[in-house]
Amino acid sequence: ESLANKIAAGEVVERPASVVKELVENAIDANSSIIEIELEEAGLSKIRVLDNGDGIEQEDCLIAFQRHATSKIKNENDLFRIRTLGFRGEALPSIASVSMFDITTSTGEGPGTHLHFKGGVLETNEFASSRKGTDIIVQHLFYNTPARLKYMKTIHTELGNISDLVNRLALAHPSISFRLSHNGKRMLTTNGNGDSLQVLASIYGMNIAKKMVPIHFSSLDFEVKGFVALPEVTRASKNYISTVINGRFVRNFTVVRAIQEGYHTLLPIGRYPVVYLEVRMDPLLVDVNVHPAKLEVRLSKEDELYKLIAEGLKNEFQQKQL
Ligand code: ADP
Ligand code: MG
Repeated sequence: ESLANKIAAGEVVERPASVVKELVENAIDANSSIIEIELEEAGLSKIRVLDNGDGIEQEDCLIAFQRHATSKIKNENDLFRIRTLGFRGEALPSIASVSMFDITTSTGEGPGTHLHFKGGVLETNEFASSRKGTDIIVQHLFYNTPARLKYMKTIHTELGNISDLVNRLALAHPSISFRLSHNGKRMLTTNGNGDSLQVLASIYGMNIAKKMVPIHFSSLDFEVKGFVALPEVTRASKNYISTVINGRFVRNFTVVRAIQEGYHTLLPIGRYPVVYLEVRMDPLLVDVNVHPAKLEVRLSKEDELYKLIAEGLKNEFQQKQL
């Protein structure tokens, strides 16, 4: 069981950013309105994710650390209609197997639970405060998998990955207040008031947010909403293009190509736009089950979506006579 967890960890938990992703997605799934992420040494020495969500019942808590224990899929049909972000029930046991792991959680009714795991082995199981929500502290990630630890890039790179991730999660969830800090220094604060443009301003700064215009296109199968920067605002990397499909931030090659096509002729070579797009479609048209880390998705009817975005943007800029 412990070995299986370590193997699964190799797939799910590649680096500190993957831990942050799984923990924050769990916090989102648990209806949190405030999520605080504290890092030390880009998460390699410490990752803390504190939420004010539903919490876990005492009797369910240990179960959550068994592989494939998920409260999110009740039957096979659910697999094809995934609405919550997590669904594999692998994250908690995987992360706990490669770290020193503490979870303190409570539903707010009766006493809470504190568990401590060292390399996946349960060492403490005790009552804890009944503050509603969940507080997870992951320390010394990969301490017992030196091969994995060796593959970590610089603190700077790992931190950049986490920061990109949290920015995107904050964009996908403007009604949740996100707070990210590193070595005690605040990196991002969003106020959770539901306004995507304010989240964009928190991430990119007011100067860029001021130059972003709302867009809204729809076709038979897709609805596309978001904010796109005027072509005069360009960046040297595609990193400033964020796409959220059915509430999940993902990478989709077609969408990125469609955006580039939409700006075509308006951007110098090697420069990219600042774009935030939300795509809504029937969940049956999205295959999220491509990779355990769930970053890439396959879509049906990609041609229709490509046209919708590319032509929509072209019209938008034509109207503005750009
Ligand atoms: P999954 O998210 O795929 O269900 P995880 O291993 O990430 O699997 O989590 C296992 C279970 O633990 C979840 O289904 C959920 O019931 C519970 N859980 C995990 N994190 C939280 C949290 N922050 N708040 C409430 N419940 C949580
Ligand atoms: Mg999960």
